[in-house]
Amino acid sequence: VTDYWCELAWLGGATATAGVLLRVDGDRFAAVTADVQAPPADAERLAGLTLPALANAHSHAFHRALRGRTQVGTWSFWTWREQMYRAAARLTPERYYRLARAVFGEMALAGLAVVGEFHYVHHQPDGTPYDDPNAMGLALLEAARDAGVRLTLLDTLYLHGGLDASGYRELSASQRRFGDRDVESWAARVEALPTTPTARIGAAAHSVRAVDPDALRYVAAWSVARGAPLHIHLSEQALENEQCRALHGCSPTELLDATGVLGAQCTAVHATHVDDDDIERLGVTRTRICACPTTERDLADGIGPFARLRAAGCTLAIGTDSHAVIDGFEEARAIELDERLATGCRGTSSVEDLLVAATSEGCASVGWSDTGRLTTGALADFVTVGLDSVRLTGTNREAALASVLYAATAADVTDVVVGGNPVVRGGVHARVDVAPELAAAIADLMDS
Ligand SMILES: [Zn+2]
Repeated sequence: VTDYWCELAWLGGATATAGVLLRVDGDRFAAVTADVQAPPADAERLAGLTLPALANAHSHAFHRALRGRTQVGTWSFWTWREQMYRAAARLTPERYYRLARAVFGEMALAGLAVVGEFHYVHHQPDGTPYDDPNAMGLALLEAARDAGVRLTLLDTLYLHGGLDASGYRELSASQRRFGDRDVESWAARVEALPTTPTARIGAAAHSVRAVDPDALRYVAAWSVARGAPLHIHLSEQALENEQCRALHGCSPTELLDATGVLGAQCTAVHATHVDDDDIERLGVTRTRICACPTTERDLADGIGPFARLRAAGCTLAIGTDSHAVIDGFEEARAIELDERLATGCRGTSSVEDLLVAATSEGCASVGWSDTGRLTTGALADFVTVGLDSVRLTGTNREAALASVLYAATAADVTDVVVGGNPVVRGGVHARVDVAPELAAAIADLMDS
């Protein structure tokens, strides 16, 4: 049993609470006690603001290697994708383990301690399975364990190379390693993946570009039968809508509705180009939406109607997706700040709304509804943000939540505990020397 005394903590609601004692027994909170004004002698003292662990509900770990290399020039999403495919082509299970351990280490340092990894680089470059067909997924699970983050491996069904009016295209040479032969071989492979106290398995369908309606129906039924989360990229680009209409005569959202994909187990990632009818369908079905604003900016996707989606009945989560930056505060505040630029209105999302998206709703989106809250019985996953940096100093209790949400960066995270285990202390990762490991893994992948 370990006691942590928090100078300030967010227990839900619109303000932080001063003097909160977190009693951790094993991997859960045995008690959360407010109004403990002085730290007990044997408690660890956490200065600053303690939050539940932030959730990164949409990650492709290897995209981290592209940071800075793909962000200049006049390229589109589609030319960015060609560069991303070139990095994907060079991955091996060993390289992916080293890169992902460092990337998950960067997430841990940012307080993004619960991760949904949308994983589609499954096989050898020519599409032949490895001796263990889950070699890549196992490398990611091992990397997350060693970096100390809680992971849901969202193993992704990817069958086709795109679609147009004439039908679905075959996988291109660079997409071949993403694809399973059919939905049954995808399911057999995924069902062989292990779960652990800090890792769960979920499903993803890459997009309506890569998964046909019959396969969407199959994966939706598979995920409902198992109570497993199901994620899918939705309408990130207007071209996807055009292609879907050309073949199916409906929007991607309508197609997902018709095939049983939408619902509370489902998270639609991006939902940038959705119309009024799509928003209503997503809201009525209580589908979750994962906003990835830093990626959506970087790829010139557009600004998703996140406030309208929430008003329609959706819950929101955040993801760092392409890892143009890894900073949960930046993703969360962008939901409101980008909305201000797009609409000329302020305050459609409250600080509490955005913190809920960054914590409990993000965790639930990736199948961890038993964390993301500082409450008795929940998994003991929490992060502390120091308030004494030049960015945050001068903050009082009343302003602490807004200061952190609107001005903190990943660098302000001082301490991270996952399942009762300290992963970050004093801003330093306990197990991974993150910066040099990132440098070595990226150089190995991109420059060798
Ligand atoms: Zn993505």
